[in-house]
Amino acid sequence: MKQIALYGKGGIGKSTTSANLSAALAEQGLGVLQIGCDPKHDSTRMLMHGTWIPTVLDLIRERGGTNLTIDDVVYTGYRGIRCVEAGGPEPGIGCAGRGIIATFQVLEKLEAFSADVVVYDVLGDVVCGGFAMPMREGYAEEIYLVTSGELMSLYAANNICKAINRLSQRPKCTCRLAGVICNAKNIDREEDLVREFAERVGSNLVAYIPRDRIVQLAEVHKQTVLEYAPDSAQAATYRTLAEVVLTNTTLTIPKPLELDELEDLAFKYISI
Ligand code: ADP
Ligand code: SF4
Ligand code: MG
Repeated sequence: MKQIALYGKGGIGKSTTSANLSAALAEQGLGVLQIGCDPKHDSTRMLMHGTWIPTVLDLIRERGGTNLTIDDVVYTGYRGIRCVEAGGPEPGIGCAGRGIIATFQVLEKLEAFSADVVVYDVLGDVVCGGFAMPMREGYAEEIYLVTSGELMSLYAANNICKAINRLSQRPKCTCRLAGVICNAKNIDREEDLVREFAERVGSNLVAYIPRDRIVQLAEVHKQTVLEYAPDSAQAATYRTLAEVVLTNTTLTIPKPLELDELEDLAFKYISI
């Protein structure tokens, strides 16, 4: 079972990329499980044709962790993709990360981790112990950073590199950086900037996903791009990403940049 995670800043396109990647993997006949690990709990919405599935944390709060069945927590969406939303803590109290682990424990107990590929879609604005849980506890093994060329999105990606670097020093932790995905915001020389960032942290730019209106069109039709516009160039981009994910063997322990190095890098590309 391959376990990959997409980490990145909120709003950068993790869920869009994850759902389309899952759809492309499923298209190849693979069994896919997508787990949304963001309190926003909309990771699987396009795979579920607009339905907000109940979150595991809400179910645990309402019914306790021991009374749940697999059908309560796992929902089958587009092309048989199995969808789970961890959900978030009660506002103001509780730890999102602990919630993610509580979710994983329920999934383990229900033997729900049976898939060819598990795709974790994880919020990475703050890589506190909480949000690092999927990596720390040995679930997410191959980490992909989703970023644009915007400084704050690169800043979040660099922080995730710091977390992977630190966690990889633990004997039991197997998580490694598998690559950087540029989800474009149409900034000048964005691909080159993100490629240099990826190489400077010791990894590779594995995909450049253009900003395309077809993503919004698919979204308002409550579908992934693969389903809404299977013959589009954007759908082909997500299929290429799926190929990369399946064949990628370049896993590294990243070397995060110092803040001034990151700022200088962005300055070099953006100020011209
Ligand atoms: P995240 O999961 O990182 O918070 P989302 O996947 O929800 O981010 O994306 C945020 C918004 O950006 C969505 O409305 C989505 O339609 C849009 N978006 C994401 N990727 C692209 C893209 N490549 N082209 C156009 N719009 C995109
Ligand atoms: Fe929030 Fe992270 Fe602290 Fe948990 S560890 S309460 S997720 S900041
Ligand atoms: Mg999301």
